[in-house]
Amino acid sequence: MIAGDSAIQRLREMLAASRRGVVFTGAGISTESGIPDFRSPGGIWSKYRPIEFGEFMASEQARRAYWRRKFATHDAVAKARPNRGHLAVAELVKQGKVAAVITQNIDGLHQASGVPTDRVIELHGNTTYAHCLDCAKAYDLDPIRDAFLADETLPVCAACGGTVKTATISFGQAMPEAEMERAREETLGCDLFLAVGSSLVVYPAAGFPALAKDGGAGLVIINREPTGLDALADLVINAEIGPILGAALNLPG
Ligand code: NAD
Ligand code: ZN
Repeated sequence: MIAGDSAIQRLREMLAASRRGVVFTGAGISTESGIPDFRSPGGIWSKYRPIEFGEFMASEQARRAYWRRKFATHDAVAKARPNRGHLAVAELVKQGKVAAVITQNIDGLHQASGVPTDRVIELHGNTTYAHCLDCAKAYDLDPIRDAFLADETLPVCAACGGTVKTATISFGQAMPEAEMERAREETLGCDLFLAVGSSLVVYPAAGFPALAKDGGAGLVIINREPTGLDALADLVINAEIGPILGAALNLPG
């Protein structure tokens, strides 16, 4: 690991030499926007055992518990704004340096920071809207929340009567095939892979950096704490994401 100005300089050089980069992000890029990551002590996400997809489908009681939790944590995500890290990633896309942003995050902050929707590959879906599990019709959360908070009415699809859920991938729910395939293609086709704010422990996150290396790309890992894949990387920066990426791209502080 190298830290400080020399690390930022090395990152600048690697970005300058790259023709087709990919940024891969985890919850760590959004903590500076006030959204806790999974492991932060006392964080809203760590208070509850996740409701698995099978439970959600099996009972109304589980679906009510699911929506109660959703709306207990909803404001933290709804009020969040992109931080310097998101803005730096958006700038890399704008400059044509980065072809795709693969994210495990569900907060929509890459899109909010100006990355075109078709350049963001969401592996775990998106919690800023809901959709029908049968016909995929999308729904705004506001009317769902109003009805649920009034008398715990569960949302039902107006088009097909199907079950409506936030557009996220729950534990036990299949990974989205098209997104996984696109993420693999972009990773194999890139010459520089930047893993940002992910502990890289859980698959599929853990698999992408090695896939990038197999495809011949350089690997940069930016994370506050070491990851199990640091030995694979060409550059590891253990520091706060916003200040590092902001400085690398000369963004205002
Ligand atoms: P993760 O495994 O990607 O770990 C986050 C990593 O980021 C940690 O290693 C932490 O040390 C690091 N980190 C945190 N803040 C940082 C900062 N400012 N600078 C540098 N490094 C920082 O993610 P997780 O927290 O274990 O979450 C697992 C899953 O839960 C996610 O993949 C996602 O699906 C969901 N989740 C999403 C969000 C979101 O959308 N913002 C937040 C929490 C959890
Ligand atoms: Zn439907």
